[in-house]
Amino acid sequence: MTDTLTPILTKDWDTPDSWKLDTYVRGGGYDAARKALTTMKSPEVIDLVKASGLRGRGGAGFPTGMKWSFIPQDNPKPKYLVVNCDESEPGTCKDMPMLIATPHTLLEGIIIACYAVNAHHAFIFCRGEVLHAIRRLSQAVREAYDKGYLGKDLFGTGYDLDIVVHSGAGAYICGEETALLSALEGHRGQPRLRPPFPAVEGLYACPTVVNNAESIASVPAIVRNGAEWYQSMGTEKSKGATIYSLSGHVKRPGQFEAPLGITFRQILELGGGVRDGHQLKFFTPGGSSTPMFTPEQLDVPLDYEGVSAAGSILGTKALQVFDETTSVVRTTLRWTEFYKHESCGKCTPCREGSWWLVQTLRNLEAGKGQEGDVDKLLDVCDNVSMKSFCTLADGFVACITSAIKHFRSEFEAGYHTPAWELFPYEKSALF
Ligand code: NAD
Repeated sequence: MTDTLTPILTKDWDTPDSWKLDTYVRGGGYDAARKALTTMKSPEVIDLVKASGLRGRGGAGFPTGMKWSFIPQDNPKPKYLVVNCDESEPGTCKDMPMLIATPHTLLEGIIIACYAVNAHHAFIFCRGEVLHAIRRLSQAVREAYDKGYLGKDLFGTGYDLDIVVHSGAGAYICGEETALLSALEGHRGQPRLRPPFPAVEGLYACPTVVNNAESIASVPAIVRNGAEWYQSMGTEKSKGATIYSLSGHVKRPGQFEAPLGITFRQILELGGGVRDGHQLKFFTPGGSSTPMFTPEQLDVPLDYEGVSAAGSILGTKALQVFDETTSVVRTTLRWTEFYKHESCGKCTPCREGSWWLVQTLRNLEAGKGQEGDVDKLLDVCDNVSMKSFCTLADGFVACITSAIKHFRSEFEAGYHTPAWELFPYEKSALF
C-alpha cells in the first residue's frame, strides 16, 4: 500500500488479516448494513446515496443513487444487483487490490444496495484471470453466510439476501454491462442494444442494477458517516474520494486514494515522481481508452468535469506514466493490438477497423510505413468512432487520435525509421 490522502476504502489494506470477517467486524464492519436495515426505509437509503453525490467509479460516472431509483418498484419481477468486478482496462488496478485486501467492504455495500432496491439476489461478476481475488471473495461470502450476515433474516429484520460469485472467462468486453449480463446468463459475451437499460430490463429480463465494485464498496462509509461528510470531499460536481491507480515509469507505482479533483502532479509526487534521470512524456488520465495527456495537463483536476474540459475522460482513473524513452507509436500499437484481440466481432467498424489500424501501426513501428499512412489512420478512426455498437471502439480510437495529435512527427518518422532506432531503450526491452 502506498500513501493515501483520504483513507476510506484503503484504510485497512495494511492491517494483518484485513480480509477476514473477524478483523472487519472488530473495525466496525457490518454496522452500516445493520444501521440501514434496522433504522432506515429502502427509499431513505436511496435518497442518502443520491445526496452524497456518489458517482459510478467504473468509468462513466453515472450518479449511483439515481441509478438505484430507476429500478421500477411496481414491477412484480425479481430485482437483481450485479457487481461489475471485471476490471480489465489497461492500467486499471483499483478493484482487484480492494477485493483481495477487504472483500467484506464490498459485501457490506451489496447488502445495503440490495436492501435499497429491494433485491434478494446479487451476483459478483469477477475477472476470471485474477484467481486470488475470486478465492478471497468466495471465502468472504462463505464467512458472511456462516455468521449470518448473508442468507435468511439479516439482522433479525426478515430480509433475505443471497450472493453468487461468478468468475468471468477472460474477455475484456464482459466489463461492458450488457455483455456482462449476457455472459452471466450463459450466452456469448456480446453487448446488447440500450435502451432498454438494465435498470428496466437487465438480468433474465428483470430490473437490474449494474454497479462497479468501488461504487458499491463506497456505500457503507456513506451510511456510517452521512451524505454531508461525503459531500465535503471532492469538487462541486464530483463528490467524494476515489482510488487512482498509478503505473509505468514512476518510482512508486500503486493505488492512491484521494479526493476527486486532485491533480496529476500531486499524485505523481505521492508516487515519488518520474524515475530518476527521466522526464514525463505523456500519461493517460483514465486508462488507455481515454485520450492521452502531456506535461501541459499536469495541473488538470482529476475529476469528471476537469478532465472532460481538458479534452479527455476521467474513466477508470488509471494514470499510466510514460517517460521520454517511450515510443508513442509502439505504445499505441500495443494498446490497439489489445483492443483488436478483445473486439467481440459483433459489429463491422470495430472488428475490421481494429484490424486495419493494427496493420498500419505495425508498419509505422517497423519504419515501413508509406506517405499518407497517418492520415489513413485518422480516416479509419473517423469511420469507426461513434459508429460501433459499444464504447470499445471509441476507446481504441481515442488513444490513436490523441497520440497523433500530440506526436504526429513520431508517427511520420515511421515512413522511414523503425521505432527501435529512435528509441534505443525500447530495442533493449524488445530483444
Ligand atoms: P454509459 O454512460 O452509457 O452508462 C453508464 C451507466 O448508466 C450504465 O450502467 C447505464 O445502464 C446507466 N444509464 C445511462 N443512461 C441511463 C438511462 N437513461 N436510464 C437508465 N440507466 C442509464 O457508460 P457505459 O458504456 O456503461 O460505460 C463506459 C465507461 O466504461 C467508459 O467511460 C470507460 O471509462 C469505462 N470502462 C471501464 C473499464 C474497467 O475496467 N472498469 C473498462 C473499459 C471501459
